[in-house]
Amino acid sequence: MKSDIDFHMWFTFEEHCQGKHYIVGNPHTFHGRILAYCSEKDVFFNVSLSEINEMSLQTKYWIKGYLSGNEPSPPVDEEGDVFPPAHVANIHYENSISLFHKTGSWYSGERNCTVCGTKLLHSWIGIECEDCID
Ligand SMILES: [Zn+2]
Ligand SMILES: [Zn+2]
Repeated sequence: MKSDIDFHMWFTFEEHCQGKHYIVGNPHTFHGRILAYCSEKDVFFNVSLSEINEMSLQTKYWIKGYLSGNEPSPPVDEEGDVFPPAHVANIHYENSISLFHKTGSWYSGERNCTVCGTKLLHSWIGIECEDCID
């Protein structure tokens, strides 16, 4: 698998180590998670876009395409039909999808801000909403 590594597809991830890290592919875990390789520690690990510090242009475009292909499906009603565009569930989904392209993170269940109780977007990182973060 190490032979699959493309050295143009590097990024930095300071939380892991100071070395260079490389995109490998889809780990098939959560939406937006990316399988990567650390040459410094010689390990494979999963990372999300929001955790990446710097990246090559190749990495940037790869992630862009990857997240588009990795978009979670829209919510459906009891009949299995997609909600109409103006429905609150669909609006929540659409907003979550736009943010997903920035964070690369997706929480499938429902979460509310721990301070004010506002419903958080699926792709929102953290437990407090935008208005409640210090
Ligand atoms: Zn590392
Ligand atoms: Zn809040």
